[in-house]
Amino acid sequence: MRAAVLEHGKFGVREVDRPEPRPAHVLLKVRACGVCRTDLHIVAGELPPRREAVIPGHQIVGDIVGEGTRVGVSWIGGTDGTCPYCRGGMENLCDDPTFTGYTVDGGYAEYALARADFVFPLPPALDDLHAAPLLCAGIIGFRSLRVAGVQAGERVGLFGFGASAHLAIAVLHAWKCEVYVATRGESHRKLAESLGAKWVGGEHDRPPVPLDRAVTFAPSGDVVVAALGSLRKGGVVAINAIHLDRMPQFDYDTLLWGERQIRSVANMTRADARDFLALAAEIGLRPKVTTFGLEDAAQALDAVKRDAVDGAAVITVQG
Ligand SMILES: [Zn+2]
Ligand SMILES: [Zn+2]
Repeated sequence: MRAAVLEHGKFGVREVDRPEPRPAHVLLKVRACGVCRTDLHIVAGELPPRREAVIPGHQIVGDIVGEGTRVGVSWIGGTDGTCPYCRGGMENLCDDPTFTGYTVDGGYAEYALARADFVFPLPPALDDLHAAPLLCAGIIGFRSLRVAGVQAGERVGLFGFGASAHLAIAVLHAWKCEVYVATRGESHRKLAESLGAKWVGGEHDRPPVPLDRAVTFAPSGDVVVAALGSLRKGGVVAINAIHLDRMPQFDYDTLLWGERQIRSVANMTRADARDFLALAAEIGLRPKVTTFGLEDAAQALDAVKRDAVDGAAVITVQG
């Protein structure tokens, strides 16, 4: 089969063996696979390699071979089910997790293998292209709102406006929240305006009112500090980024005092996935997508890196 492979730091499309069926797994014929910023960190080596060679991609839409059911696969490809976190309902923090497209092969390929208990049947209301970006960007954005403790009607800041934020804004509007967006790039600001943000500013602009919650999406510690500076007392910043350049020094007295909190958002649970996909179908969530062929996987990653994609990038796989 054709697949985009990262091997010894080199990334390219080539012919590889189709995965062999395994017990408790399903073989998927891939229809589409979303491109996530995490893929970029993997291919750039910012996340340490876990295998000699790996096929990235963890927002897979595919049909179960021999059965036909259309399912989605996300970043969390499996857990041990036995560690204290799994037993405590926090499988996103599992001590021995499997990550799709990182510790096992992912969906930048014609076929992919997935654990049968970690695939999610997709509602018919969500077509392939529009379902793919929901599977990580959407679910993790949704989890970020939960981690930030967003309540209906609150003022919420989104710092950065890529794939995940442009889905989170729809969820926030469904919850009757006011959304304030600070982001670099004129096209991202225009997109935020067109999606109904109450206020839109540049990455260094401060929202005009104190915010109850904020979620940061840029892989930048400076952005986290800016978000912290926008909060009311008791407010929460949730960091939706698996990798930050660094965390700069900041002034405790003015920025964190007053029971403000900074929380990271790690991975996702299957409950997050199911709850979010049901909500997405209910509110008719339709991501803005830009498509790339499998042969152009490197260009898709490059476009995400340059912030040149409005909404989400999706790789379509021709069968
Ligand atoms: Zn576990
Ligand atoms: Zn992701």
